Amino acid sequence: MRGVATVPVVGNQLASASRDSRRNVEINVGKACNNKCVFCLDGMPSKADKGFILLETMKRELARWRSLGHESVGFLGGEPTMYPGIVESIRYARELGYTRIAIATNAMMFRRQEFVDRLIGAGLTRVTVSMHGHTVELEDKLTAVPGAFIKKCEAIARLRVERDRGRLRDGLSVNVVLNGWNYRALPRMMKFFFEKLHIGDLRVNFVRPEGYAEGNAELTPTLTEVVPVLMKAILLNEHRFRRTFTFGGVPLCVLPAELLNSGGLMRKYAGDVFRDLSTDCSVRSDGHGEGVSTVEEGRARFNWQDRKRFDLKNRDDACGECALSSVCEGLWHGYVEIYGTSELSPLRFNGGRLSRATRSVAEAPSPNPSTRPTRRPRRLPLLSP
Ligand code: SF4
Repeated sequence: MRGVATVPVVGNQLASASRDSRRNVEINVGKACNNKCVFCLDGMPSKADKGFILLETMKRELARWRSLGHESVGFLGGEPTMYPGIVESIRYARELGYTRIAIATNAMMFRRQEFVDRLIGAGLTRVTVSMHGHTVELEDKLTAVPGAFIKKCEAIARLRVERDRGRLRDGLSVNVVLNGWNYRALPRMMKFFFEKLHIGDLRVNFVRPEGYAEGNAELTPTLTEVVPVLMKAILLNEHRFRRTFTFGGVPLCVLPAELLNSGGLMRKYAGDVFRDLSTDCSVRSDGHGEGVSTVEEGRARFNWQDRKRFDLKNRDDACGECALSSVCEGLWHGYVEIYGTSELSPLRFNGGRLSRATRSVAEAPSPNPSTRPTRRPRRLPLLSP
C-alpha cells in the first residue's frame, strides 16, 4: 500500500484497475426469504417489509438509474428469486441497456433448469450464491433449513454448466458470511468451493452483527481470532488454489503489516477497498430518511460505500489520525457494541512502510457483558440493503 495516499480517488473510492468501472445499482425487491440464516440482517421482517416491490415501481427504478448512467444492476432481497416480477425485471433491465445484470441469491430456485433458462434467457449475466458452509451440518445449521446444503450444491452444479457455456458472462461467485460457526473452517471451505464445486470466485464478508446476530458473541468472532485464519486463506490461495478470493468488512489496521505493505496483495484480496463496484441502492422505505439516504416515492436511495462509512460503521477517535482514514470504513456498529474498539490503532507511514501506532492486542477482547443475543431480534430500519 505504499503511496496509497497518492492513489487518485474516483468518486468515493480509490482508483483501481482491478475494479469493474461500471456504476452499479442494487434494487431490493422485498425481504421475503425461504431461508432463515442465523445471522440474517433482516431479523424478523414485518408483513409490510416482506411485501414485494410493484413491477411498475421496479421498472421506474430501473429506468431512473439507467438514465443516470448505471450500466450494472443487482437484484437483492430477502430472496430475489421469490419475487414474481424477477424475469420481467431482468428482461426490462436488458432492454434498457444494462450490460451487467446480477442476482444475489440463496440459489434454491436455481435447482430447476427451467428457472435457470428463464432468467438467463431474460438477460441475467451474473449469479452470486450465498453459501456459508462446506458440509451438510454447517450449511443447514447456518441457514436453518434442512437440505439447504444439498440443494445449493445441485443449483451451483447447474449454474456452473451455464458459466462454462459462456451464458453467465459476468460470472458465478459464492459469497460467505464469515462468522463464529464457520471461520475456522475457511481453508476447508476454500478447498470445497474451489476444487469440488469448481467455483472460481469466492468472497468472504465478516459478519455484521445486526438482525438475528445482534449482540451474539458466539456468532461474532473477534477480528483478533479471524485475521490469522484469513491470512492462512490468502497464503493457500497464493500457493495452491490461485482463484479469485477476496474479503470484506475488515478494518485495515488489524491486518498484518506484510499484507498492508504489499500493494499487489491488497489489490488482489481487499475486495471492499480495491474491487467492489461503486454501488447505489434502492430500498423500500416507510418514509423516514436515515443518514445519507434520500427518501422519495417510497424508496430510500443511498450510495452503499457512503452508507457504510457514515451510517453503519464506527470509526474510533484514533481513525482521525490514521494514514488510511480516507480508505478504511472502520467497524460495524454491532461489533463495537459487543467488543469495543480496542483492536484498532491508527496507521502511520514510517520509512515508507505502514505500521500501527500501537502494538496489536495480545489477547482477543471479551464480549461486553451487557450484550447478549436478542431472543426476538429487533426489526432493523428498512434502509439496510
Ligand atoms: S485506525 Fe480506523 S481508519 Fe485506520 S485502519 Fe483502523 S479502523 Fe481504519
